[in-house]
Amino acid sequence: MENEIYLDGNATTCVLPEAVHAAAQAMRKLYGNPSSSHAAGLKAKALLEAVRGRAARLLGTGDGRLMFNSGATEGIQTAVLSALCAVRERRARGETAASLLVYGATEHKAVPESLAHWNRVLALGLTLKKLPVQADGRHDLDALRALLPDAALVCTMAANNETGAISDLQGLGAVMEGAQALWMVDGVQALGKLDLTLSQTRIDYAMFSGHKLYAPKGTGMLYVRAGAPFTPLVVGGGQECGDRSGTENMAGIAALGAVLEALESGGAFRSRHELHGFRERIAASLRRALPGLVFNAPFATTLPTTLNFSVPGLSGRELLDVFDAANMRVSAGSACSAARAAPSPVLQAMGLPGWRSANAVRLSFGPLVDEATIAGACERIARCGDALRRAGMVCGHVPALPQDGVLQLTANGAHTWLLLDAASRGCVVIDPQPEFDTRMDRLLDAEGFRINAVLRTGDGTGWTQDGNRLALGSQVLQRLRFDNGRVCYLLGSTIGGELTARHAFIGDIGPDELPAGIVTSATVLCPARETQGILCTTLDANPEVDTAAPAMNLESDALETFFAAHPDAVLVDVREAYEHAACGSPAPAARVAVSVPLSRLVGRLPDWLRQRERMPLVFFCRSGNRSAKAAQCLRSLGYGPSFHVSGGMALAASAVRTVAAP
Ligand code: PLP
Repeated sequence: MENEIYLDGNATTCVLPEAVHAAAQAMRKLYGNPSSSHAAGLKAKALLEAVRGRAARLLGTGDGRLMFNSGATEGIQTAVLSALCAVRERRARGETAASLLVYGATEHKAVPESLAHWNRVLALGLTLKKLPVQADGRHDLDALRALLPDAALVCTMAANNETGAISDLQGLGAVMEGAQALWMVDGVQALGKLDLTLSQTRIDYAMFSGHKLYAPKGTGMLYVRAGAPFTPLVVGGGQECGDRSGTENMAGIAALGAVLEALESGGAFRSRHELHGFRERIAASLRRALPGLVFNAPFATTLPTTLNFSVPGLSGRELLDVFDAANMRVSAGSACSAARAAPSPVLQAMGLPGWRSANAVRLSFGPLVDEATIAGACERIARCGDALRRAGMVCGHVPALPQDGVLQLTANGAHTWLLLDAASRGCVVIDPQPEFDTRMDRLLDAEGFRINAVLRTGDGTGWTQDGNRLALGSQVLQRLRFDNGRVCYLLGSTIGGELTARHAFIGDIGPDELPAGIVTSATVLCPARETQGILCTTLDANPEVDTAAPAMNLESDALETFFAAHPDAVLVDVREAYEHAACGSPAPAARVAVSVPLSRLVGRLPDWLRQRERMPLVFFCRSGNRSAKAAQCLRSLGYGPSFHVSGGMALAASAVRTVAAP
């Protein structure tokens, strides 16, 4: 198995070896409670203050407070609570009529959620107002100027986690000058990447998370400007000068201290110049591998450690899958589900077209990144590009082996169906969606397929044939007309002129609308839309099937026991062909899996459903999402012994080798 290349540094980072050592030392040797007055406590206290001193120097906190806490989310709560308590006090004194809580439109969710929460808890009735950003992701300063007279608190970030867009803190500060509003800056993505001298700014609150810069999770810091209002979030033992009670996380603070030491002394972390060079190399390999790729934020005003991009015709999920197959961890710029991509609110706020905000991918690394990682990433990006080209998913002609059957392409919950006959190189398209136009053209071109017909179930258009039957190799496609121009197409073979339908493409016609005798309970009904995440249905299907009884999910460590108890069970790999092509050298096999990509599962279903003896089918994929869908689909169709591997390949303990389906 190839080594993992981790390019999701904006989500979290590994822990610096020196930080691991420092944490271990703190636990082994400096285990005293820093509040104790004996020697053990004093040693711990000295460590605590040394780390604070270092952080204060690096962040230029001057005479402001700097407290340790569990991370930025806690820091945000504390800052928001402090600011809102101040509003309440000023209101009580009759001093303020400010009514707005202003936050950048691209802020991390923790900010608007905290504003809404504390506004509700304190019953202040303030209005949350988004501060728009420009196309480059930077705040609209004119809009801020207009909102400022009514603002009680302004929340902006120093750098964005999805795009790496660097805020114009100087420009924001100039606008904020003289305003009554308090100013909170989320510094999470800036720590170690941008120079900050907080005490020389107008910033009232700034928060940081250690785990975004090689310290462990659960460590963080909050800066509060000298004189800025402050209300502790956690009270009790009076630690951190009463600003944040609770015995300090000394192992975490020691580790954070080691990271700050590395940052202060230089050497361990890459220079800005080197990081820009790394970004150029990755960007060049992405452009070469993925023609048409667009970067979603201009490099001139983004951190060199974050690349956010979209590729026409490819979903973020598909890109994530292929990168993951190449053992390269990146992140979807937006929260996606397999069928329905939720557009990224950050990219939407920047005014990017829907396809870019729905399909964005983020590749991010930290300043500790080394040359080998960048070189490896470039090589694997090229391999992913080749795999996608071979599958016809990006342009470039690499003929692939023709395959026949039913291919299902899904976008926004709607299905396009391709009926392929390899022998005659014929293809029929049902309910085409424009999203797939270029992909279908490339795929069919590369494999030498010819389109015989493009049909729609909604209005019956596309049928140019005399009569109601069309030959597709050895199979027959039969047209059935319904009311309002709707049409259903049956695909199957004929014996003595009688059609036995394996598949029926029913559009939005309900199974109960089909005349009796037209299809059997073994006919797979292929709708135009996905309902309840189910790919297809049959006359006897039960979409409400209880997928928990008997348990559908198999934990990876229970697989060996399962296969020992069910020697006839078949392991089915539902990953797509391009994911296999993106894998490096295959791992030595502990078990052989059959490849039935999810996009071709519906084509295979009639064979499985016809079996009298139902062997257990165990589906797996990269993350467990698609395999769960496959197992759930089979169960809903009455195929009881269908299972899936929770957590997918990522957690599968035993290496598997996948072979093409017979
Ligand atoms: N703010 C930004 C910009 C972030 O990227 C994150 C984490 O993703 C947070 C806040 C929340 O940080 P944490 O989960 O460490 O509290």
